[in-house]
Amino acid sequence: MPRQAAGYWERTSVADCVFCRIASGEIPATLVHSDNQCVAFRDLNPQAPTHVLVIPREHITSVAVATPEQEPLLGHLVRIAADVARREGLEASGYRLVFNHGPDAGQSVFHIHLHLLGGRRFAWPPG
Ligand code: 5GP
Ligand code: ZN
Repeated sequence: MPRQAAGYWERTSVADCVFCRIASGEIPATLVHSDNQCVAFRDLNPQAPTHVLVIPREHITSVAVATPEQEPLLGHLVRIAADVARREGLEASGYRLVFNHGPDAGQSVFHIHLHLLGGRRFAWPPG
């Protein structure tokens, strides 16, 4: 991904946000959880046997711009990810939760999403 000016992620709007359209049901996805604050669905290009994205219904472009008022919502995403992991049978074998922000982390969708990855061994530190 090319280098871009700091703050570019704040310019991504709801209108052209693929994850807002998944949350509203406009774009189909394989949902594994839905509530009034978030939805979780399977990644289109899975990097592990289980690869689920947990997103807030609210359009927040990145963890970098989340506010103190949004802390409970971010906590909710983490707790739901753990619930989904348990249902996927990953609690004993383990799993990884990841938020990517910006170019070095490879963020490609500018609506907060928590990756839940499991079902295989992951390298640490990440490549
Ligand atoms: P990022 O690289 O921004 O952390 O992760 C974005 C993720 O969203 C990628 O793993 C990508 O495969 C996934 N993704 C992008 N567009 C779609 C989509 O339309 N549907 C689903 N299910 N996943 C998507
Ligand atoms: Zn959005």
